[in-house]
Amino acid sequence: MRLQVVGLEAGYGKAQVLFGVGLEVGEGELVALLGANGAGKTTLLRAVSGLVRLAGGRVLLDGKDLKGLSPAKRARLGLGHVPEGRQLFPLMTVEENLRLGAAFLAPGREKEGFGRVYALFPRLQERRKQLAGTLSGGEQQMLAIARALMGFPRILLVDEPSLGLSPRLAEEVLLALRQVAGAGVGVLLVEQNVVLSLEVADRAYVMEHGRIVLKGAPKYLSADPRVREAYLSL
Ligand code: ATP
Repeated sequence: MRLQVVGLEAGYGKAQVLFGVGLEVGEGELVALLGANGAGKTTLLRAVSGLVRLAGGRVLLDGKDLKGLSPAKRARLGLGHVPEGRQLFPLMTVEENLRLGAAFLAPGREKEGFGRVYALFPRLQERRKQLAGTLSGGEQQMLAIARALMGFPRILLVDEPSLGLSPRLAEEVLLALRQVAGAGVGVLLVEQNVVLSLEVADRAYVMEHGRIVLKGAPKYLSADPRVREAYLSL
């Protein structure tokens, strides 16, 4: 497994948010992490990338324990993170934003990175001289994903990419993530859009109050009465 999260405990000060969370993402796998607002999904992604300190448990990337490593070191080891809200630089061009994602790579690889992300998102290539702030919401989300891909991640953590997007654009973004996984990257996708996530994911986990309560293949989860009632309104 590319990414292994074992017995993870984390929170903010005295408020514990995650209680013994375990999950795995394999090479080329798209794994969805579903759950209501406040279940702890963002906190989990932040704990994996080193932005939130662990109170217990382990995070392993290709078998290597990431304990004590800074977010920057984790990024160098192959952990990409597309945060909620995209966090682009609106007054920089598309190309300048992308370059930031390759800041720690050898110069030759930057060119390779551009080739890769422009093949995946041709629209970004067309708009490469445009200021990021002038892009549509869907294009901004694609830019945020592309920026993370510029670092050649082996695991990509993506937080709520469909937030604020029309259903058509949300689908386009999730299908792009499917392609990212198809290229061998393990993708951990946090989503509120349960229907769409279960369509594109290889496997999914459902989180409630800081614990994984269900996991399995999308087919199995969408047939589960708890999922149907709580997330699919059926
Ligand atoms: P959402 O979909 O709303 O992002 P989530 O499942 O990602 O929800 P988290 O954002 O991880 O959930 O939040 C889990 C819990 O941690 C919530 O109760 C939230 O209020 C709390 N929390 C999140 N960030 C902080 C913070 N910086 N300081 C203190 N508490 C926080």
